[in-house]
Amino acid sequence: MEASLYLHIPFCAGSCDYCDFYSVPVKTVDSRLDFYIDRLLADVRQALSGAVGAAAVTSVPTVYIGGGTPSMLGYRRLKRLLTELAMLTPNTPLEWTVEANPESADEAFFETCAATGVTRVSLGIQTFHEPSRMAVNRVGDSRLLRERLALARSIFPAAFSIDLIAGLPFQNEAVLQADIGQALAFEPAHVSLYSLTVNEHTPLWKKWKEWKRTRRFDCDVERIDRLWLAGRDELERNGYAQYEVSNFCRRGENGEASVKNMSAHNLRYWRMENWLGIGAAASGTIIDEGTGTGVRRTTAADVDSYLANPAFAVECLDRSAIIKETFLMGFRTMFGPDDALFRKRFHTDIEACIPKTIALWRNKGLFDRESLRLTRMGLLFLDAFLREAFSELDCGNGAS
Ligand code: SF4
Repeated sequence: MEASLYLHIPFCAGSCDYCDFYSVPVKTVDSRLDFYIDRLLADVRQALSGAVGAAAVTSVPTVYIGGGTPSMLGYRRLKRLLTELAMLTPNTPLEWTVEANPESADEAFFETCAATGVTRVSLGIQTFHEPSRMAVNRVGDSRLLRERLALARSIFPAAFSIDLIAGLPFQNEAVLQADIGQALAFEPAHVSLYSLTVNEHTPLWKKWKEWKRTRRFDCDVERIDRLWLAGRDELERNGYAQYEVSNFCRRGENGEASVKNMSAHNLRYWRMENWLGIGAAASGTIIDEGTGTGVRRTTAADVDSYLANPAFAVECLDRSAIIKETFLMGFRTMFGPDDALFRKRFHTDIEACIPKTIALWRNKGLFDRESLRLTRMGLLFLDAFLREAFSELDCGNGAS
């Protein structure tokens, strides 16, 4: 069986006010980091051997080490993790990504990655604008960010990615343009541009309410949308093509989005291809190609429980659930779900499952006439499209 690997490292230098992911400050778990790596490696060994109720994994096309902040492990621990992981995988993965944040991505980090088979690094920059960084309690400063980006470029010239956020406090169009300009000066192969989300129960939520009350800046969600659109246009003007809701890659010589600059690992998620999630709060999905059903394996949601008990929950996903997830993930991309793979798995066509929704959205000019994908404009209304598609599926068109 073929399956990608995702390893979760939920440790961070600090806590960003907008963060809605599970993460813990690294200083509170320092003495257990080696144990966490032991546990990860044991878990990988078990998962690859097929002990999760699926067949043994004979090929690992991609590996992604994300977080949290994997670079917080420090280069010695990272070296051990990467070296032992490489020995466990049955083949050399085509793409091997490690996420990092500038405050912990020093020269030793990049060199360790390069020496242990990592092919791609993804750096969380978010913004170079100090008032915006400080307003959301994000560690680092713009000088350090530039220094670390220069290192990434010198060691991974053809394969590093930068994360940016549109809609941060005190960010206007000029600030965002300057952020993008500074990021692109390092010629990354790939850029993720996210919209700021102000989730309830995050520290940012409280601050946001106060800023709204005192009118410190425009807190409307429309400002966030406007900024993201301006950022998208700026990236496109500068040689990057959008290939997913929040992801852009450098265009190839033919002017099209270049597959070699995309994230191969994330493409597998968007195509709903097998992956195993390892580590606290990680999950993975294995699909049975014959029946179109799936199994989701989810580990304990926090580090303490994960270290105390490596057991995982198993959820069986029926054909209808997998079809919905295939739409949810596939329509996020500029190319839509893979029609051939869909037919092979579910013995029906995408269009046969949601004919009314597709016809309606084509009439509105939001769904491509020739292929099974939303248009660039349609992608902005993805949630509404999925709501209609799911409601049509629930009425029984080929999904049951
Ligand atoms: S670095 Fe990322 S995971 Fe860690 S607190 Fe900030 S946003 Fe959350």
